[in-house]
Amino acid sequence: MYGWNGQILRINLSSGKASIQKYNGEFARKFIGGRGFAAKILWDELKPGIDALSPENKLVLAAGPLTGLPGPSLGKLVVAAKSPLTGGYGDGNIGTMAAVHMRKAGYDAIIVEGKAPKPAYLYIENEKVSINSAEGLWGKTTFETEKILKDVHGRNAGIISIGPAGENLVKYATIVSQEGRAGGRPGIGAVMGSKNLKAIVFKGTRELPIADSENYRKLSLECYDTIKSSQGYSFWIRQGTMMTIEWSNENSVLPTNNFREGIFEFYRCIDGYSLEAMKVKRRGCPNCNMQCGNVVIDLDGSESELDYENVAMLGSNIGVNQLGKVAILNRLADELGLDTISLGNVIGFAMEATERGLLKDGIEWGDFEAARRLIEDIAYRRGLGDLLAEGVMRVSQKLGEGSERWAMHVKGLEVSAYDCHTVPGMALAFATSPIGAHHKDAWVISWEVKTDREGYTRAKVEKVIEFQRIRGGMFEALVSCRLPWIELGFPLEYYPKLLKAATGFDFTLEELTANLGDRIYALIRAFWIREKGGWNRSHDYPPARWFEEPLTKGPYAGKKLDKEKFDQLLSIYYEARGWDTRGIPRKSTFEKLGLTEVASELEKYVSLNP
Ligand code: SF4
Repeated sequence: MYGWNGQILRINLSSGKASIQKYNGEFARKFIGGRGFAAKILWDELKPGIDALSPENKLVLAAGPLTGLPGPSLGKLVVAAKSPLTGGYGDGNIGTMAAVHMRKAGYDAIIVEGKAPKPAYLYIENEKVSINSAEGLWGKTTFETEKILKDVHGRNAGIISIGPAGENLVKYATIVSQEGRAGGRPGIGAVMGSKNLKAIVFKGTRELPIADSENYRKLSLECYDTIKSSQGYSFWIRQGTMMTIEWSNENSVLPTNNFREGIFEFYRCIDGYSLEAMKVKRRGCPNCNMQCGNVVIDLDGSESELDYENVAMLGSNIGVNQLGKVAILNRLADELGLDTISLGNVIGFAMEATERGLLKDGIEWGDFEAARRLIEDIAYRRGLGDLLAEGVMRVSQKLGEGSERWAMHVKGLEVSAYDCHTVPGMALAFATSPIGAHHKDAWVISWEVKTDREGYTRAKVEKVIEFQRIRGGMFEALVSCRLPWIELGFPLEYYPKLLKAATGFDFTLEELTANLGDRIYALIRAFWIREKGGWNRSHDYPPARWFEEPLTKGPYAGKKLDKEKFDQLLSIYYEARGWDTRGIPRKSTFEKLGLTEVASELEKYVSLNP
């Protein structure tokens, strides 16, 4: 095979055994890689109903057939497992040299099973695989861990690790690499922690097999040039995703005070221009020529890598109005291995619960010092932090008193940084994302505010599905960054061309988006249904707050979502996907997507409509 290595490395931490599994071209073409591989492996291999933090869960790292090749933003890998936060399918992607080295070591994916008897880390150098003691690393931050492992294995090694949050099984612990690149929002870091696995170190020295290297080289150079000469490039280089703070505030979608409002009085103090005044350098994923990791020096004098999501969630959403302070909270979260989006959401919830008298000795809006202490308490599960480490869904279930209405999550995953009181299309995107309320799969909000913003139309459903196919399907399976396309208009047509040059196979864009995307979505939905033993529409609903409490500030004051109309959107969505009115894919849909065996297995748990 070209493009793919055709090999998956399986490591069992309980037995200490490693083995290589070959796979064929049919599997490769059907699932491509990344999320496609991860979803299929977890569907095939996980016993339904297992505890996500038990040795029975499996950690999958999966790259795509372009990963590690020169080409824009092709240095990422997917990390996936059954999520301890949601109980469903969970994944995320990380831009890291570990992705490049994993592929160059000869593997397209790695499956980690079992549990090491003592803290351990994996060292993978081509065919050499060892499980090493991490007892000296346990308790260290992700930054410290990576530094120590680089001292041992060399500056060029690709490393992913967890911090104290993953070790202490915080339900939204992430995996971190290169001091700021993090992934696995639905607690994939906690899955690593539950396996006593502190880190994975990769060193790969092999050439990747390319079908037409001359054509590939020409194409990739053309891609870099296209990105560099795009109209928005120079402003992107200045602000990156941080330009979105101003945009979100102007459009009343900047999460403020636990998503009560969409505007923040002090947004200027945390926006892209504030960033420019503090910025010292840029960082990013391997092979990227539009690096978006803007590094500032925080008020403690340390480097912190900022982007829109972490600044909105640890800034406006919790009332912290100074970028230098937000940067401290952000760095702390990266060091401890906590997801910044869920963290800002949980702290915002705790602040509101304090205001409402549900939490004694809680935390006040905008109290930076208390937030800083609380972040440590969450990572080490101390006091109130122990409760908040469970995520807003479980915390609200414990507190009761109607707090479930303003617990901002879908399927247990905390909502990322867009308020949806006035954007039903984006609310639908959050509601139907395959991992819970994450923006990654269908960021339709920019298109939506420019068009029929408050409308509940079929066109919105179609746009959500179109984006889910491109972003949640093609980009997640290739594990290629979506930002060149969505931010700078990089043409999608390049991806089938790059794939053809790398693998020798012709794929149409339609095959990579609609066919592949729908297949992956149906497979992941099947995973959720099997875990829950059924499905109903309530799982695909955004938080009640957006339907019940209107905005009180700004040009959209008085506005909220309409529940009846949203329900109609959801029905259109199900029908367009070939799913029934419960949200379960029809048997004919599974068959059309080449997933007949998935339908047969699922029928053991739930009846399928024809
Ligand atoms: S644009 Fe940002 S997230 Fe995307 S590949 Fe480049 S550095 Fe990574």
